[in-house]
Amino acid sequence: FSKEENRKAFKEALKLVESQLGQEYDLIIGGERIKTEKKRKSINPSHIQQTIGTISQANQELAEKAIQTAAKTFESWKAVPADHRARYLFKAAAILRRRKHEFSAWLVKEAGKSWAEADADTAEAIDFMEFYGREMIRLAERQPLVRIPTEDNELTYIPLGVGIVIPPWNFPLAIMVGMTTAALVSGNTVVLKPASTTPVIAAKFMEILEDAGVPAGVVNYLPGSGSEIGDFLVEHPLTRFISFTGSRDVGLRINELAAKRSPGQKWIKRLIAEMGGKDSIVVDKDADLELAATNIVHSAFGFSGQKCSACSRAIIHQDVYDEVLTKVVEKTNALTVGDVADPSYYMGPVIDEHAYNKILEYIEIGKTEGKLVAGGEKAGENGYFIQPTVFADVHPQARIMQEEIFGPVVAFTKAKDFDHALEIANNTEYGLTGSVFTRNRAHIEKARTEFHVGNLYFNRKCTGALVGVHPFGGFNMSGTDSKAGGRDYLLLFTQAKLTSE
Ligand code: NAP
Ligand code: MG
Repeated sequence: FSKEENRKAFKEALKLVESQLGQEYDLIIGGERIKTEKKRKSINPSHIQQTIGTISQANQELAEKAIQTAAKTFESWKAVPADHRARYLFKAAAILRRRKHEFSAWLVKEAGKSWAEADADTAEAIDFMEFYGREMIRLAERQPLVRIPTEDNELTYIPLGVGIVIPPWNFPLAIMVGMTTAALVSGNTVVLKPASTTPVIAAKFMEILEDAGVPAGVVNYLPGSGSEIGDFLVEHPLTRFISFTGSRDVGLRINELAAKRSPGQKWIKRLIAEMGGKDSIVVDKDADLELAATNIVHSAFGFSGQKCSACSRAIIHQDVYDEVLTKVVEKTNALTVGDVADPSYYMGPVIDEHAYNKILEYIEIGKTEGKLVAGGEKAGENGYFIQPTVFADVHPQARIMQEEIFGPVVAFTKAKDFDHALEIANNTEYGLTGSVFTRNRAHIEKARTEFHVGNLYFNRKCTGALVGVHPFGGFNMSGTDSKAGGRDYLLLFTQAKLTSE
């Protein structure tokens, strides 16, 4: 967006999207559009009177229909050769690339992403499709087996069956697209239940799949409240796997339900769960402090801190604590918050009223657990705006140091030395991302083995993983240790069959 032509194209895309606001979106089951009596509005979190779209809501009966349709479609889809399936993804990626700014504009409107954050979300969705398409082609190649003279042996990766895909709202395009297309390119059929705050983006993506020629019934679009139809989808005997990205508590519930065999079920359901985070940035005494401060601010406040990878804990060596804190407070105070359709704002709103109230409650808790040194207030009317907020001198065991807030709040704590800093960094139940800023080679090597997170970064921010470059996913309560955008990922959607002749 430093180029005028891109700014112009983006403004036009915003206008196009504005002209399409408020439309109705139906369920899509087996290609059929289905309207329901019950509807739910999706709103613009920057401007809460603005309706993005009105979406029909599935009930259990329609959920049943979606699963039955997916199960029936699986019988034909599983026989489509892997390279054919991959080409659907390449085609869909090409269409999305052409409509990139339009999709990003929907992200600005429906999710409250800034232009740059929206652009990154769309780019990641394109990358996921390209990457998983190529990955499927690789997996379909002849797999290396030890040869023996009397037999011809072959190992092939075959699909699982019907998958329930339950994405979050915070990367409503990238994560939703990644989870859905990984499942379908592997030969499975999908019931896609989008997050209730961002269903329109998912509906727009369904248009792309249709344009790309993906057969009806391969992906079934089933908007509806997770608490109303979630259990039914997870427990259904025809459900073969669940791919979930979201909070710890919902992930754990799905894990429990999926583990129990339903009458008529003849497999053990597989769960791929990517869950919460409580991510730390450690700053050592000999680090580049300016670089560290800049990256703490970007990691904590990009998209209002609503990333599972967001920095919410800054663990600073005592010798440089005051200096890093001062720099971070200065940089935080310089950030602007407002309706992100205007690109001069760095930070937009948080997603909805529930998140808004929850984050403001955590800010009150923070005031009792530490010293408020920046932000701490609501930031404007008509939208769910909260100031970027920094707390100093927080105990490592304090609630705001342990619990996922999922908003623009970062807590600082002081470490005696580097070992102490690592000990604090590892003291949560999560293990998603982390960064260390240091110039000390021995400390880098120590953190490399001891800092227990799925994505560990040195001298850079802890957000912003690139598909194929930084396979993404965490340990412990952050999920089932899967790696989206990595070479192992499609294996989670397949099972290996050996044939010996
Ligand atoms: P969430 O509340 O857990 O919701 C995630 C999805 O689960 C939504 O589609 C939601 O539907 C659905 N859901 C809710 N209750 C359900 C139930 N009982 N059964 C089945 N599905 C149900 O999480 P969120 O607020 O959307 O997203 C934020 C969370 O996601 C954070 O914890 C963040 O760390 C995590 N996250 C993790 C990663 C990662 O890669 N590890 C990436 C992104 C986000 P409704 O919208 O209808 O409630
Ligand atoms: Mg939620």
